[in-house]
Amino acid sequence: MQTDIDRDRIEAVLTDLVRIDSTNPALGADGRGAGEQEIATYVADAMHDIGLAVEHWEPVPGRPNVVGLLRGSGNGRSLMWNAHTDTVGVDGMDAPFEPTRRNERLYGRGTQDMKGGLAAQLVAARALAESDTPLAGDLLIAAVVDEEHKSIGTEALVERYHADGAIVTEPTDLQLVRAHKGFVWIDIQTHGRAAHGSRPAEGVDANMHMGRVLSRLEDLGRSLSRRTGHPLVGAPSLHAGQLRGGSAPSVYAADCHLRMERRTVPGESVEEALEEVRDLLRSLRDEDANFEAEAEIAFAREPLETPADAPIAAATREGLTYVLNDESAPDTGASFWTDAALLADAGTETVVLGPKGAGLHTTEEWVDLASVAQLAEVLVQTARHYCT
Ligand SMILES: [Zn+2]
Repeated sequence: MQTDIDRDRIEAVLTDLVRIDSTNPALGADGRGAGEQEIATYVADAMHDIGLAVEHWEPVPGRPNVVGLLRGSGNGRSLMWNAHTDTVGVDGMDAPFEPTRRNERLYGRGTQDMKGGLAAQLVAARALAESDTPLAGDLLIAAVVDEEHKSIGTEALVERYHADGAIVTEPTDLQLVRAHKGFVWIDIQTHGRAAHGSRPAEGVDANMHMGRVLSRLEDLGRSLSRRTGHPLVGAPSLHAGQLRGGSAPSVYAADCHLRMERRTVPGESVEEALEEVRDLLRSLRDEDANFEAEAEIAFAREPLETPADAPIAAATREGLTYVLNDESAPDTGASFWTDAALLADAGTETVVLGPKGAGLHTTEEWVDLASVAQLAEVLVQTARHYCT
């Protein structure tokens, strides 16, 4: 059954969304982004207008999540569509909130990441709400805050709402993503002994000791890149993100601190990633009794892996095949992390599917409008397959 996705409406909704500055408060200039209040009001109004039951609540003051419910007519499976309303900052952009169209491309901050996905959800929800054949299961549309920083929106959402399956409409070039990497931030501290630079017999240089750690991490990174990894996301990786050590040029550094990032693949645990680093520190200590260091987890997010035969993957694949008329499109994986992993952790089988475009997090971000309309159509078809 072909639904009529209204292309003009998609462009109008997306243009409205991009015009609202919703820079994540933590990511704006001087840590003062506009936040999600205004866009949440717009989304809630749009949901009311479609006829959804709307809840609007603030997991932290001034930062509202919005959830719209299209009640199913029976006991079918429930489905959630999830989009974040915040964007990254706009440094270096001329007119980030003035969307401009060139051919099929719409340019502006958030067009691809991920107001395109949110616009597709709102228009698809309208098509389903106005349809003569209602879904048997509930459909939830969740517009959440803060994905670009700490994901407090989806963390609060999973405490309040549960669905059997979910689709996160982050940009994937209309490919079905059912696996992505996780990440682990590990804090490593080397300890030396402060002494005046003129007294080498007394000083122990924590910065030099961190140099040894960095050299071993580089080796470890090379060996990670040679691993087979995961069939959809490839090999794990690491990098030395932030480094800080010492107090003055003529003082032996007493401490040096590294916050490194390890990108994990499905099947790897946070503890394994930490143990690899601790092993490396132990071997450095075995070589030099003056070497003193420790490592601990600062922050971690799990990878995503949804089985190929999960009902949400099957339904989304059917929707995609129907709309794109291409049976050969393979499932794929993504290297970036998304809120899909939090939904999966909460027991909701989840995939990621979003529009085509480029330039996310750069000064020239755009989305392909035709792909946003196709995404809306896939969402409609997938809901029909899944919510039975
Ligand atoms: Zn995003």
